[in-house]
Amino acid sequence: MTPTVPAACSLHKTHAPRPVVVELHHVLPRAWQHAFPAPAALPAGAVAGHDADGSLWDARTVPICPTAHRSVHAALVAMVRGHPHVGSPRERKVAGLALSRALEAGVTVEMLLAAHQYGEA
Ligand SMILES: [Zn+2]
Ligand SMILES: [Zn+2]
Repeated sequence: MTPTVPAACSLHKTHAPRPVVVELHHVLPRAWQHAFPAPAALPAGAVAGHDADGSLWDARTVPICPTAHRSVHAALVAMVRGHPHVGSPRERKVAGLALSRALEAGVTVEMLLAAHQYGEA
């Protein structure tokens, strides 16, 4: 469930073919925010929000094309599973932000694995 917006992809300068839609990627996966309660110490710059499933404690998003979106999540799943070299440098940077912001909030990779939260979406 990703809203589509008339914005430019923030990961790619050019596209061929050109994407019809751009999606808003929640840098800190919504599923993680629903799985773990809002921490006392929020990640720096966190902005609260909500989605169809409830409240989010860090609702920040970045606009990316569908191809980049799937790649970022593939990179994130690989990172959570201990394989940090999947995806392009830009895709890995966005994926890595999920883990750094989660850690700032006290959510470790071990906690994500134990909760079966791999960052697929
Ligand atoms: Zn996403
Ligand atoms: Zn793109």
